[in-house]
Amino acid sequence: MATIQNVRGTKDILPNEIYKWQKLEEIARNVSEKYGYKELRTPIFEKTEVFSRGVGEGTDIVNKEMYTFADRGNESLTLRPEQTAALVRSVIQNNLLAENPVQRLYYLGSYFRYERPQKGRLREFHQYGIECLNSAFPESDVEVICLAISFINQLEIKDFKLNLNSIGNEQSRANYKKILIDFLNSHKNNLSEESKNRLEINPLRVLDSKNPADIEIVKNAPNILDSLDDESLNHFNIVKNLLDILQINYTVNPTLVRGLDYYSHTVFEFQSTHLGAQDAFGGGGRYNSLFTELGGKETPSVGFAMGIERLLLILEKIGNTPQENNTEIMIIFSDEKHIDFAMKVSDIVRNKLGKSCLMDLNRRSMKSQLREANKLGVRLALIIGDEEVAKESITVKYMQENKDQCFMRIEELEGVF
Ligand code: AMP
Repeated sequence: MATIQNVRGTKDILPNEIYKWQKLEEIARNVSEKYGYKELRTPIFEKTEVFSRGVGEGTDIVNKEMYTFADRGNESLTLRPEQTAALVRSVIQNNLLAENPVQRLYYLGSYFRYERPQKGRLREFHQYGIECLNSAFPESDVEVICLAISFINQLEIKDFKLNLNSIGNEQSRANYKKILIDFLNSHKNNLSEESKNRLEINPLRVLDSKNPADIEIVKNAPNILDSLDDESLNHFNIVKNLLDILQINYTVNPTLVRGLDYYSHTVFEFQSTHLGAQDAFGGGGRYNSLFTELGGKETPSVGFAMGIERLLLILEKIGNTPQENNTEIMIIFSDEKHIDFAMKVSDIVRNKLGKSCLMDLNRRSMKSQLREANKLGVRLALIIGDEEVAKESITVKYMQENKDQCFMRIEELEGVF
Protein backbone atom coordinates (compact mmCIF):
# COMPACT_ATOMS: atom_id res chain seq x y z
CA MET A 1 0.00 0.00 0.00
CA ALA A 2 1.25 3.48 -0.83
CA THR A 3 2.52 5.46 2.16
CA ILE A 4 0.84 8.74 3.04
CA GLN A 5 2.79 11.97 2.71
CA ASN A 6 2.39 15.21 4.65
CA VAL A 7 0.44 18.12 3.13
CA ARG A 8 2.39 20.39 0.73
CA GLY A 9 3.83 23.40 2.53
CA THR A 10 3.91 21.68 5.93
CA LYS A 11 6.92 20.14 7.65
CA ASP A 12 7.55 17.56 10.33
CA ILE A 13 9.92 18.82 12.97
CA LEU A 14 12.03 15.75 13.58
CA PRO A 15 13.66 14.68 16.85
CA ASN A 16 17.12 15.50 15.50
CA GLU A 17 16.16 19.15 15.00
CA ILE A 18 13.62 19.73 17.77
CA TYR A 19 16.27 20.97 20.21
CA LYS A 20 16.85 24.01 17.97
CA TRP A 21 13.17 24.88 18.23
CA GLN A 22 13.12 24.32 21.95
CA LYS A 23 16.18 26.50 22.48
CA LEU A 24 14.68 29.29 20.41
CA GLU A 25 11.38 28.99 22.27
CA GLU A 26 13.21 29.06 25.60
CA ILE A 27 15.00 32.27 24.61
CA ALA A 28 11.69 33.79 23.44
CA ARG A 29 10.04 32.94 26.76
CA ASN A 30 12.96 34.29 28.80
CA VAL A 31 13.13 37.57 26.91
CA SER A 32 9.35 38.03 27.09
CA GLU A 33 9.32 37.45 30.82
CA LYS A 34 12.25 39.79 31.35
CA TYR A 35 10.09 42.55 29.90
CA GLY A 36 7.04 41.46 31.92
CA TYR A 37 5.13 39.81 29.05
CA LYS A 38 2.91 36.80 29.83
CA GLU A 39 1.88 34.05 27.45
CA LEU A 40 -1.64 33.87 26.02
CA ARG A 41 -2.72 30.79 24.05
CA THR A 42 -5.81 30.90 21.90
CA PRO A 43 -7.41 28.03 19.93
CA ILE A 44 -5.93 27.04 16.56
CA PHE A 45 -9.23 27.90 14.86
CA GLU A 46 -11.66 30.74 15.25
CA LYS A 47 -14.90 31.94 13.76
CA THR A 48 -13.98 33.27 10.34
CA GLU A 49 -15.16 36.79 11.14
CA VAL A 50 -12.37 37.20 13.73
CA PHE A 51 -9.96 37.39 10.80
CA SER A 52 -12.19 38.81 8.08
CA ARG A 53 -13.01 41.75 10.38
CA GLY A 54 -9.75 41.77 12.33
CA VAL A 55 -7.20 41.39 9.55
CA GLY A 56 -9.32 43.23 6.99
CA GLU A 57 -11.20 42.41 3.83
CA GLY A 58 -8.70 44.15 1.55
CA THR A 59 -5.74 42.02 2.59
CA ASP A 60 -4.07 39.12 0.77
CA ILE A 61 -4.49 36.98 3.87
CA VAL A 62 -8.27 37.31 3.93
CA ASN A 63 -8.76 37.39 0.16
CA LYS A 64 -6.77 34.38 -0.85
CA GLU A 65 -4.75 32.74 1.91
CA MET A 66 -7.11 31.57 4.63
CA TYR A 67 -7.89 27.96 5.39
CA THR A 68 -11.61 28.44 5.83
CA PHE A 69 -14.10 25.61 6.10
CA ALA A 70 -17.65 24.94 7.21
CA ASP A 71 -17.77 22.56 10.17
CA ARG A 72 -20.43 19.90 10.53
CA GLY A 73 -22.78 22.44 12.08
CA ASN A 74 -22.23 24.63 9.00
CA GLU A 75 -20.38 27.31 10.90
CA SER A 76 -17.60 29.05 8.97
CA LEU A 77 -14.31 28.52 10.79
CA THR A 78 -10.74 29.48 9.89
CA LEU A 79 -7.36 28.11 10.91
CA ARG A 80 -5.61 31.14 12.38
CA PRO A 81 -3.46 32.87 9.72
CA GLU A 82 -1.89 35.17 12.34
CA GLN A 83 -2.25 35.76 16.07
CA THR A 84 -3.08 39.38 16.71
CA ALA A 85 -6.78 39.34 15.75
CA ALA A 86 -7.43 36.15 17.72
CA LEU A 87 -5.52 37.48 20.73
CA VAL A 88 -7.57 40.67 20.69
CA ARG A 89 -10.76 38.62 20.44
CA SER A 90 -9.68 36.77 23.58
CA VAL A 91 -8.63 39.90 25.49
CA ILE A 92 -12.05 41.48 24.82
CA GLN A 93 -13.98 38.31 25.64
CA ASN A 94 -12.07 37.67 28.88
CA ASN A 95 -12.03 41.33 29.85
CA LEU A 96 -8.29 41.18 30.49
CA LEU A 97 -7.86 44.92 30.38
CA ALA A 98 -10.00 45.24 33.50
CA GLU A 99 -7.21 43.48 35.44
CA ASN A 100 -4.36 45.60 34.17
CA PRO A 101 -4.44 48.97 32.46
CA VAL A 102 -1.67 47.76 30.14
CA GLN A 103 -1.57 44.10 29.10
CA ARG A 104 1.75 42.73 27.96
CA LEU A 105 1.27 39.42 26.17
CA TYR A 106 3.34 37.03 24.09
CA TYR A 107 2.59 33.98 21.97
CA LEU A 108 4.33 31.07 20.31
CA GLY A 109 2.41 28.91 17.89
CA SER A 110 1.65 27.70 14.41
CA TYR A 111 -0.23 29.67 11.76
CA PHE A 112 -1.76 28.72 8.43
CA ARG A 113 -1.79 30.50 5.09
CA TYR A 114 -2.47 29.11 1.66
CA GLU A 115 0.62 30.59 0.01
CA ARG A 116 2.88 29.23 -2.71
CA PRO A 117 5.43 27.20 -0.77
CA GLN A 118 9.11 28.04 -1.25
CA LYS A 119 12.22 28.42 0.90
CA GLY A 120 11.13 30.27 4.03
CA ARG A 121 7.47 30.22 2.99
CA LEU A 122 5.22 27.47 4.26
CA ARG A 123 1.52 26.83 4.61
CA GLU A 124 1.92 25.93 8.24
CA PHE A 125 4.58 28.12 9.84
CA HIS A 126 5.44 29.25 13.34
CA GLN A 127 5.66 32.61 14.97
CA TYR A 128 6.82 34.17 18.19
CA GLY A 129 5.21 37.49 18.88
CA ILE A 130 4.29 39.99 21.54
CA GLU A 131 1.53 42.55 21.97
CA CYS A 132 1.58 45.56 24.25
CA LEU A 133 -2.06 46.54 24.71
CA ASN A 134 -3.57 49.84 25.79
CA SER A 135 -0.88 52.46 25.57
CA ALA A 136 -1.03 55.12 22.88
CA PHE A 137 2.38 56.48 23.81
CA PRO A 138 5.47 56.09 21.65
CA GLU A 139 7.50 54.58 24.50
CA SER A 140 5.41 51.42 24.14
CA ASP A 141 6.36 51.19 20.43
CA VAL A 142 9.97 51.46 21.54
CA GLU A 143 9.60 48.88 24.32
CA VAL A 144 8.28 46.42 21.73
CA ILE A 145 11.10 47.13 19.28
CA CYS A 146 13.66 46.85 22.11
CA LEU A 147 12.28 43.48 23.13
CA ALA A 148 12.56 42.28 19.54
CA ILE A 149 16.17 43.50 19.36
CA SER A 150 16.98 41.86 22.68
CA PHE A 151 15.62 38.56 21.33
CA ILE A 152 17.62 38.89 18.10
CA ASN A 153 20.75 39.72 20.11
CA GLN A 154 20.30 36.68 22.34
CA LEU A 155 20.19 34.55 19.19
CA GLU A 156 23.49 36.24 18.28
CA ILE A 157 22.15 37.40 14.92
CA LYS A 158 24.23 40.48 14.10
CA ASP A 159 23.74 41.07 10.42
CA PHE A 160 20.18 42.37 10.17
CA LYS A 161 18.37 45.57 9.33
CA LEU A 162 15.51 47.29 11.14
CA ASN A 163 13.30 49.18 8.66
CA LEU A 164 11.06 51.78 10.24
CA ASN A 165 8.23 53.94 9.00
CA SER A 166 5.16 55.79 10.13
CA ILE A 167 1.90 55.51 8.26
CA GLY A 168 0.39 58.13 10.55
CA ASN A 169 -3.03 58.40 12.15
CA GLU A 170 -6.24 57.77 10.25
CA GLN A 171 -6.59 61.37 9.05
CA SER A 172 -3.00 61.54 7.74
CA ARG A 173 -3.42 58.21 6.03
CA ALA A 174 -6.69 59.27 4.38
CA ASN A 175 -4.97 62.41 3.05
CA TYR A 176 -2.04 60.41 1.79
CA LYS A 177 -4.24 57.80 0.14
CA LYS A 178 -5.85 60.52 -2.00
CA ILE A 179 -2.49 61.87 -3.14
CA LEU A 180 -1.16 58.34 -3.75
CA ILE A 181 -4.21 57.24 -5.76
CA ASP A 182 -3.87 60.33 -7.99
CA PHE A 183 -0.20 59.54 -8.56
CA LEU A 184 -0.77 55.84 -9.23
CA ASN A 185 -3.68 56.55 -11.55
CA SER A 186 -1.38 58.67 -13.68
CA HIS A 187 0.87 55.59 -14.08
CA LYS A 188 -1.87 53.02 -14.13
CA ASN A 189 -1.06 51.62 -17.56
CA ASN A 190 2.41 50.58 -16.44
CA LEU A 191 1.40 49.01 -13.14
CA SER A 192 1.23 45.22 -12.71
CA GLU A 193 -2.22 43.66 -12.75
CA GLU A 194 -1.95 42.95 -9.05
CA SER A 195 -1.13 46.56 -8.26
CA LYS A 196 -3.99 47.79 -10.47
CA ASN A 197 -6.26 45.70 -8.25
CA ARG A 198 -4.65 46.91 -5.08
CA LEU A 199 -5.05 50.48 -6.22
CA GLU A 200 -8.80 49.96 -5.90
CA ILE A 201 -8.86 48.01 -2.63
CA ASN A 202 -5.76 48.87 -0.63
CA PRO A 203 -3.59 51.43 -2.45
CA LEU A 204 -0.88 51.59 0.25
CA ARG A 205 0.00 48.00 -0.59
CA VAL A 206 1.20 49.06 -4.04
CA LEU A 207 4.19 50.59 -2.22
CA ASP A 208 5.05 47.09 -1.03
CA SER A 209 4.99 45.48 -4.48
CA LYS A 210 7.89 43.25 -5.48
CA ASN A 211 7.15 43.67 -9.20
CA PRO A 212 10.12 45.46 -10.93
CA ALA A 213 7.89 47.78 -13.01
CA ASP A 214 5.93 48.75 -9.87
CA ILE A 215 9.15 49.32 -7.96
CA GLU A 216 10.30 51.83 -10.61
CA ILE A 217 7.02 53.74 -10.40
CA VAL A 218 6.94 53.66 -6.61
CA LYS A 219 10.40 55.26 -6.49
CA ASN A 220 8.79 58.54 -7.55
CA ALA A 221 5.63 58.16 -5.48
CA PRO A 222 4.78 60.88 -2.98
CA ASN A 223 6.39 60.23 0.41
CA ILE A 224 3.96 59.23 3.14
CA LEU A 225 6.05 61.08 5.72
CA ASP A 226 5.22 64.35 3.97
CA SER A 227 1.53 63.73 4.66
CA LEU A 228 1.83 63.21 8.40
CA ASP A 229 -0.03 65.72 10.55
CA ASP A 230 1.50 67.21 13.71
CA GLU A 231 0.26 64.47 16.02
CA SER A 232 1.61 61.71 13.74
CA LEU A 233 4.93 63.47 13.22
CA ASN A 234 5.35 64.05 16.91
CA HIS A 235 4.71 60.36 17.66
CA PHE A 236 7.21 59.26 15.03
CA ASN A 237 9.86 61.75 16.18
CA ILE A 238 9.64 60.50 19.77
CA VAL A 239 9.99 56.88 18.59
CA LYS A 240 13.10 57.76 16.58
CA ASN A 241 14.55 59.83 19.38
CA LEU A 242 14.13 57.04 21.94
CA LEU A 243 15.68 54.52 19.53
CA ASP A 244 18.63 56.91 19.12
CA ILE A 245 19.02 57.22 22.88
CA LEU A 246 19.04 53.42 23.15
CA GLN A 247 21.55 53.22 20.28
CA ILE A 248 19.28 51.04 18.17
CA ASN A 249 20.10 51.35 14.49
CA TYR A 250 17.24 51.72 12.04
CA THR A 251 16.60 52.85 8.49
CA VAL A 252 13.57 54.98 7.76
CA ASN A 253 11.87 53.43 4.76
CA PRO A 254 8.83 55.44 3.61
CA THR A 255 7.57 52.64 1.35
CA LEU A 256 7.24 50.18 4.24
CA VAL A 257 3.51 49.80 4.91
CA ARG A 258 3.10 46.10 5.78
CA GLY A 259 0.27 43.93 4.60
CA LEU A 260 -2.44 44.26 7.18
CA ASP A 261 -5.23 46.79 7.42
CA TYR A 262 -5.09 47.43 11.09
CA TYR A 263 -1.82 49.34 11.39
CA SER A 264 -1.38 53.03 12.14
CA HIS A 265 1.61 55.19 13.12
CA THR A 266 4.75 53.09 13.63
CA VAL A 267 5.43 50.10 11.37
CA PHE A 268 8.68 48.16 11.26
CA GLU A 269 10.24 45.09 9.72
CA PHE A 270 13.40 43.09 10.33
CA GLN A 271 15.33 42.06 7.25
CA SER A 272 18.25 39.69 6.77
CA THR A 273 20.49 39.21 3.76
CA HIS A 274 20.81 35.54 4.70
CA LEU A 275 17.27 34.71 3.57
CA GLY A 276 17.05 35.27 -0.19
CA ALA A 277 13.74 36.39 -1.67
CA GLN A 278 11.74 36.06 1.57
CA ASP A 279 14.09 38.36 3.45
CA ALA A 280 11.79 39.63 6.22
CA PHE A 281 12.01 37.57 9.36
CA GLY A 282 9.77 39.66 11.53
CA GLY A 283 7.71 42.76 11.64
CA GLY A 284 5.09 44.66 13.49
CA GLY A 285 3.60 47.98 14.28
CA ARG A 286 0.99 49.98 16.07
CA TYR A 287 -2.68 49.27 15.68
CA ASN A 288 -5.20 51.59 17.23
CA SER A 289 -8.49 50.47 15.70
CA LEU A 290 -8.37 46.66 15.81
CA PHE A 291 -10.22 46.45 19.14
CA THR A 292 -13.15 48.47 17.80
CA GLU A 293 -13.24 46.34 14.62
CA LEU A 294 -13.76 43.35 16.89
CA GLY A 295 -16.42 44.98 19.05
CA GLY A 296 -14.24 46.22 21.93
CA LYS A 297 -13.38 49.65 23.30
CA GLU A 298 -10.75 51.64 21.46
CA THR A 299 -7.43 50.25 22.73
CA PRO A 300 -4.23 51.59 21.21
CA SER A 301 -1.71 48.77 20.95
CA VAL A 302 1.55 47.71 19.37
CA GLY A 303 3.23 44.37 18.68
CA PHE A 304 5.48 42.27 16.48
CA ALA A 305 5.63 38.75 15.06
CA MET A 306 8.74 36.84 14.04
CA GLY A 307 8.85 33.78 11.80
CA ILE A 308 10.57 30.92 13.59
CA GLU A 309 11.43 28.98 10.41
CA ARG A 310 13.15 32.05 9.01
CA LEU A 311 15.07 32.66 12.23
CA LEU A 312 16.27 29.06 12.14
CA LEU A 313 17.35 29.50 8.51
CA ILE A 314 19.42 32.53 9.54
CA LEU A 315 20.98 30.65 12.48
CA GLU A 316 21.90 27.81 10.15
CA LYS A 317 23.43 30.22 7.62
CA ILE A 318 25.59 31.91 10.25
CA GLY A 319 26.57 28.56 11.73
CA ASN A 320 25.03 29.34 15.06
CA THR A 321 22.65 26.49 15.68
CA PRO A 322 22.22 25.55 19.33
CA GLN A 323 23.84 22.35 20.60
CA GLU A 324 21.79 19.31 21.46
CA ASN A 325 21.93 18.06 25.05
CA ASN A 326 23.29 14.52 25.09
CA THR A 327 21.90 11.73 27.23
CA GLU A 328 24.24 11.57 30.21
CA ILE A 329 24.31 7.90 31.08
CA MET A 330 23.84 4.52 29.44
CA ILE A 331 23.27 1.34 31.43
CA ILE A 332 25.12 -1.61 29.93
CA PHE A 333 24.31 -5.16 31.01
CA SER A 334 26.25 -8.28 30.12
CA ASP A 335 23.39 -10.77 30.19
CA GLU A 336 19.61 -10.87 29.93
CA LYS A 337 19.40 -12.22 33.45
CA HIS A 338 20.61 -8.82 34.72
CA ILE A 339 17.72 -6.87 33.19
CA ASP A 340 15.83 -6.53 36.47
CA PHE A 341 18.90 -5.11 38.24
CA ALA A 342 19.63 -2.87 35.24
CA MET A 343 16.09 -1.49 35.35
CA LYS A 344 16.43 -0.84 39.08
CA VAL A 345 19.67 1.09 38.49
CA SER A 346 18.10 3.15 35.65
CA ASP A 347 15.23 4.02 37.94
CA ILE A 348 17.62 5.25 40.65
CA VAL A 349 19.64 7.26 38.15
CA ARG A 350 16.61 8.96 36.64
CA ASN A 351 14.39 9.46 39.64
CA LYS A 352 16.77 9.71 42.63
CA LEU A 353 19.80 11.27 40.97
CA GLY A 354 17.86 13.22 38.34
CA LYS A 355 20.13 12.29 35.44
CA SER A 356 19.08 11.28 31.92
CA CYS A 357 19.76 7.65 31.22
CA LEU A 358 19.11 5.01 28.57
CA MET A 359 19.07 1.25 28.62
CA ASP A 360 19.06 -1.05 25.60
CA LEU A 361 15.59 -2.45 24.83
CA ASN A 362 16.66 -4.98 22.21
CA ARG A 363 18.73 -7.26 24.44
CA ARG A 364 21.76 -6.70 22.26
CA SER A 365 25.30 -7.78 23.08
CA MET A 366 27.43 -5.77 25.46
CA LYS A 367 29.61 -4.74 22.54
CA SER A 368 26.64 -3.25 20.66
CA GLN A 369 25.48 -1.50 23.81
CA LEU A 370 28.90 0.09 24.24
CA ARG A 371 28.93 1.12 20.58
CA GLU A 372 25.57 2.79 21.10
CA ALA A 373 26.88 4.57 24.22
CA ASN A 374 29.76 5.95 22.15
CA LYS A 375 27.43 7.03 19.38
CA LEU A 376 25.19 8.86 21.83
CA GLY A 377 28.20 10.58 23.37
CA VAL A 378 27.17 9.70 26.95
CA ARG A 379 29.48 10.79 29.75
CA LEU A 380 29.17 7.62 31.79
CA ALA A 381 28.41 3.97 31.09
CA LEU A 382 27.20 1.98 34.08
CA ILE A 383 28.23 -1.60 33.47
CA ILE A 384 26.43 -4.50 35.09
CA GLY A 385 27.75 -8.08 35.19
CA ASP A 386 27.57 -11.04 37.58
CA GLU A 387 29.82 -9.53 40.21
CA GLU A 388 28.03 -6.17 40.16
CA VAL A 389 24.65 -7.84 40.70
CA ALA A 390 25.99 -10.07 43.47
CA LYS A 391 27.40 -7.05 45.32
CA GLU A 392 24.58 -4.58 44.52
CA SER A 393 27.22 -2.50 42.71
CA ILE A 394 28.09 -1.12 39.30
CA THR A 395 31.19 -0.45 37.26
CA VAL A 396 31.33 3.18 36.22
CA LYS A 397 33.16 3.80 32.96
CA TYR A 398 34.05 7.37 32.02
CA MET A 399 33.33 7.48 28.30
CA GLN A 400 34.58 10.98 27.53
CA GLU A 401 37.43 11.98 29.79
CA ASN A 402 40.01 9.26 30.62
CA LYS A 403 38.06 6.05 29.91
CA ASP A 404 38.81 5.00 33.53
CA GLN A 405 36.60 2.46 35.23
CA CYS A 406 35.75 2.07 38.87
CA PHE A 407 33.68 -0.39 40.81
CA MET A 408 31.33 1.01 43.44
CA ARG A 409 28.20 0.35 45.45
CA ILE A 410 25.00 1.89 44.07
CA GLU A 411 24.76 4.26 47.04
CA GLU A 412 28.15 5.69 46.11
CA LEU A 413 27.01 6.63 42.62
CA GLU A 414 25.77 10.05 43.69
CA GLY A 415 29.36 11.10 44.45
CA VAL A 416 30.32 10.62 40.81
CA PHE A 417 28.32 13.65 39.61
P1 AMP B 1 3.29 38.71 9.00
O1 AMP B 1 2.31 38.16 9.98
O2 AMP B 1 2.91 38.47 7.58
O3 AMP B 1 3.70 40.10 9.30
O4 AMP B 1 4.60 37.85 9.18
C1 AMP B 1 5.49 37.99 10.27
C2 AMP B 1 6.63 37.03 10.05
O5 AMP B 1 6.13 35.69 9.99
C3 AMP B 1 7.35 37.20 8.72
O6 AMP B 1 8.35 38.17 8.82
C4 AMP B 1 7.91 35.84 8.48
O7 AMP B 1 9.12 35.67 9.19
C5 AMP B 1 6.86 34.93 9.06
N1 AMP B 1 5.97 34.40 8.01
C6 AMP B 1 4.88 34.96 7.48
N2 AMP B 1 4.30 34.17 6.56
C7 AMP B 1 5.07 33.05 6.49
C8 AMP B 1 5.01 31.85 5.74
N3 AMP B 1 4.03 31.60 4.86
N4 AMP B 1 5.97 30.91 5.94
C9 AMP B 1 6.97 31.13 6.83
N5 AMP B 1 7.07 32.24 7.57
C10 AMP B 1 6.13 33.20 7.41
